[in-house]
Amino acid sequence: MTSSYDAIVIGAGPNGLVAANHLIDAGWSVIILEAQSEIGGAVRSAEDVHDGFVHDTFSAFYPLSYASPTIQSFGLERFGLTWQHAPAVLANPLPDGGWAILHRDRDITAALMEQQVSGDGERWLELCSLWDRIGDQIIGALLSPFPPVKSGLASLARLRRVGGLDFVKMMLTPAIDLGLTRFRGEGPRVLIAGNAGHADIPLHAPGSGLMGVLMTMLGQTVGFPVPEGGAGVLAHALADRFTSLGGEIQCDAEVVSIDVANGRASGVRTRAGDRFTASHAVVADVVAPHLFGRLLAAGDVPVRVAQAMRSFQLDPGTVKVDWALDGPVPWETPPLHAPGTVHVADSVDQMDEALNQVTARTIPADPFLLTGQMTTTDPTRSPPGTESLWAYTHVPQVATGDAGDGSIRGTWDADDRERFADRMQARIVKLAPGFESRIVARRVLGPREMEARNANLIGGAINGGTSQLQQQLFLRPVPGMGRAETGIKNLYLGSASAHPGGGVHGAPGMNAARAAVAHARLRRFNPWR
Ligand SMILES: Cc1cc2nc3c(=O)[nH]c(=O)nc-3n(C[C@H](O)[C@H](O)[C@H](O)COP(=O)(O)OP(=O)(O)OC[C@H]3O[C@@H](n4cnc5c(N)ncnc54)[C@H](O)[C@@H]3O)c2cc1C
Repeated sequence: MTSSYDAIVIGAGPNGLVAANHLIDAGWSVIILEAQSEIGGAVRSAEDVHDGFVHDTFSAFYPLSYASPTIQSFGLERFGLTWQHAPAVLANPLPDGGWAILHRDRDITAALMEQQVSGDGERWLELCSLWDRIGDQIIGALLSPFPPVKSGLASLARLRRVGGLDFVKMMLTPAIDLGLTRFRGEGPRVLIAGNAGHADIPLHAPGSGLMGVLMTMLGQTVGFPVPEGGAGVLAHALADRFTSLGGEIQCDAEVVSIDVANGRASGVRTRAGDRFTASHAVVADVVAPHLFGRLLAAGDVPVRVAQAMRSFQLDPGTVKVDWALDGPVPWETPPLHAPGTVHVADSVDQMDEALNQVTARTIPADPFLLTGQMTTTDPTRSPPGTESLWAYTHVPQVATGDAGDGSIRGTWDADDRERFADRMQARIVKLAPGFESRIVARRVLGPREMEARNANLIGGAINGGTSQLQQQLFLRPVPGMGRAETGIKNLYLGSASAHPGGGVHGAPGMNAARAAVAHARLRRFNPWR
């Protein structure tokens, strides 16, 4: 069977859905082909851990969606999206029984920091005020195609107001040094470092400071919101908007090849043998190694891209544990304000040690946990008085050893997974004695289970490739690209492997769709292009 459209989008992850919405808004006929039996990519939720408990399968907190001008412009509230916030955005328990807490009210955050170390409250408010003056332009620049002309110029214009080159230096300072130079107490330092730890940039490397400040200040200004009812509600709102405008979505339709003739992509073929043609564009919400190494025939990939892809670097793997609890997490000393996100690290140095073990290709002894108290954040996630909880941490793509007791081999079979989940759980039990007695159900997703549920998550890599500087901006996914164009006419890379990378902000999808529409307009005037 052959079907014809103006555009085909491969993959119904958030970037594919954003791209499809933009293309349908341009008046094109569009189909999304999704390999899995459900849409959403890494934005999905289900009651599959325990009855009555909604668990987000992958991503959970969406400050980047909330702040994304593109996603905001779709008016997803009309398609069932309601945001929910936890009482506190984020917290990290400290070994002395205290907590580092990021509250959405900056005065409360500052007052809590001031109680811990005199002067840190004021220093926090100073950082917030710097961000107030330039943060929106930084976000705009990061989410625009590279080079970000409009937001980049606006950021430059505002630079003087935030201290000029001193501000640039601060943003280039590694997260650890930035915390040390700006604050005296462990609280603000561990919050910034923990937020930098959402990406795989070492805390001692440039880029980690920018990531830490960006995520921390997003938390401070917009919070870490979640869709009421589960992550999947966000994906379904995007999909419903698209189909309400005439778009089509086909699930269980894995694209296995892209047809290229005379250097131009003309359509795709699915595993079931169906053929789809696209007169204007094929947008691939596909991780770069699969696009260039699987879906395209070797002879169709531009030589320069094929060569550069040999040094493409994935980000580390991931192990995620979901728990259904019959009560809240029994923190030994409960935080003053209940947080949605909890980072579990004893200190910045301990977090650094755990992250360095991953970089050194060893399985961390005391992993740095990113944790979500989902019912605390959105009471619809499980029955009153219970908690839908998860934690994930990173592991090397290829492990050469175990920095812990040596029992984990890095094969990520059932034995490895359960042992490592026990190790992660022990980190929580230490802070919340009695935690184990509250567990009604536990599910462990290792790198293989992640990839089986979403082929883009190669070996459990969650960001479509490392976020380190050597593979960012015009170097993403390979040097010289940085934009959605692939070197093959009508084929656009619109996944997290493209600039600006991972996170649910829709920018790679939007950049790809915009490029496709712009090129189609140009072709109308010059059919030889
Ligand atoms: C465990 C985890 C936690 C995370 N936490 C957060 C968070 O809290 N906040 C945040 O902002 N980000 C988070 N992220 C990152 C974020 O989810 C991703 O960066 C984002 O989903 C990337 O979107 P995407 O559309 O590029 O790809 P994906 O979401 O991976 O979607 C790609 C889609 O394409 C489909 N596909 C792939 N190949 C084919 C093919 N050949 N044919 C057809 N379909 C195909 C896949 O099945 C999938 O549905 C997390 C990710 C993971 C895995």
